[in-house]
Amino acid sequence: MSERIPTVETFEPSHPKKVKAKPGDNLIHTRSFTGLFRTLRLSGAAVLFLAFFGTVWLNWSERQAVLWDLAESKFHIFGATFWPQDFILLSALLIICAFGLFAITVFAGRVWCGYTCPQSSFTWLFMWCEKVTEGERNQRIKLQAAPWSLNKLARRSAKHGLWLGISVLTGLTFVGYFTPIRPLAVELLTWQMGGVSLFWVLFFTAATYLNAGWLREAVCMHMCPYARFQSVMFDKDTLTISYDAARGEQRGPRKREVQPAHVGLGDCIDCQLCVQVCPTGIDIRDGLQMECIGCAACIDACDSIMDKMGYARGLVSYTSEHQLQGGKTHLLRPRLIGYSAVLLVMIAALGVALVERPMVSLDVTKDRGLFRENSQGLIENIYSLKVINKTQQRQDYRLELVDGDGFQLQGPTVISLAPGEISDVPMSVTLLAETPASSSQTIRFKVSEVDEPWIFSAADSRFVAPLNR
Ligand code: SF4
Ligand code: SF4
Repeated sequence: MSERIPTVETFEPSHPKKVKAKPGDNLIHTRSFTGLFRTLRLSGAAVLFLAFFGTVWLNWSERQAVLWDLAESKFHIFGATFWPQDFILLSALLIICAFGLFAITVFAGRVWCGYTCPQSSFTWLFMWCEKVTEGERNQRIKLQAAPWSLNKLARRSAKHGLWLGISVLTGLTFVGYFTPIRPLAVELLTWQMGGVSLFWVLFFTAATYLNAGWLREAVCMHMCPYARFQSVMFDKDTLTISYDAARGEQRGPRKREVQPAHVGLGDCIDCQLCVQVCPTGIDIRDGLQMECIGCAACIDACDSIMDKMGYARGLVSYTSEHQLQGGKTHLLRPRLIGYSAVLLVMIAALGVALVERPMVSLDVTKDRGLFRENSQGLIENIYSLKVINKTQQRQDYRLELVDGDGFQLQGPTVISLAPGEISDVPMSVTLLAETPASSSQTIRFKVSEVDEPWIFSAADSRFVAPLNR
């Protein structure tokens, strides 16, 4: 018995790129699909969602494990605390992320977009809500075209209710990384949230609802800068999701038992499934397009058709331009090696910087008055030493001058600071000689742990004195 792959004509033929329910409707009604790449995508998104929504609730030593404390200008991440002075490390981390993105893009195109980008992940989640509340693609198209009824109102309300619920949770979670989440959640539930927190929770709620619910692929196509420049990183060996036109054309429907070559056809049966599953509504058979976010849904769809037809999989697949032209894909190539090498060097440098990061910080500010004469007729300069205990334990610190022959430090020489405490210590430095060697010279202050003096921080300042007295 012959079997023809069923096709569903629900799109508007005059506009093949957009699957519409009726003229004027610009929504893309994506068909859900299963397959290897969908499983990979969902697994990646599940890990990311778990990390995003879960980490904020973890505690570490009686405080939130990950918290960017804006009021105190500290960033806590589990056992480590970072201060504004450490933000160079954050810059290094961002550079590492950028080079990681460059390397993966040269190797496999827009896998970031398809598998891990928050915009894509939230969009997939919202599309799942849509499927649960409004049904599969054909039901959604019918619902879209149908006049308002109780059924339509109930389904639409359920969908938007779910979208809003996820959006509020996202907004709360995001703000919870900057303000302790537990009191914030209680404030939200009891309607007692302060104006600033409320503004940001509502802002991120609206951003999630609009971006993932309404804008969706428009963000990728018109707003995301990465979509604009990623194509310049592609080369002829980059693995992109492509349709093998040499194998697929001439496309056209046929019965399953018919040999395509006998009727002058290629392997594409023109079922449109690859278009119907595409979240950006494009036809991969038109070639590589800027709108393609590399989600691989069309591979899953086409592979299932190939299985049903008894053809080899891979009519739509991850492949390179070289391979499509009959050549081989070169995995190791200069640009990829270059990005990977920079990436490895940056990761190593960041690792060293993290390990070597001084756990005590010292900043010295000289008093605005240049100098003064004390009761013994000696010249004095006044300083303020800002000491930060960056550890998680109370520490005793010794304050001293490095190579301070000829000077005397006056003020506390040992201070005790609680974990994370910042102390401003007033100090005066006296020049012991009556006649200074120069009008201005560098002096170096040092703060070190009393128990482990090899842990220290030093900072320079100037000592100013009159030459002619
Ligand atoms: S490429 Fe595959 S999924 Fe797309 S129309 Fe052809 S056979 Fe169908
Ligand atoms: S063309 Fe394929 S890989 Fe690209 S966005 Fe559409 S479904 Fe995803």
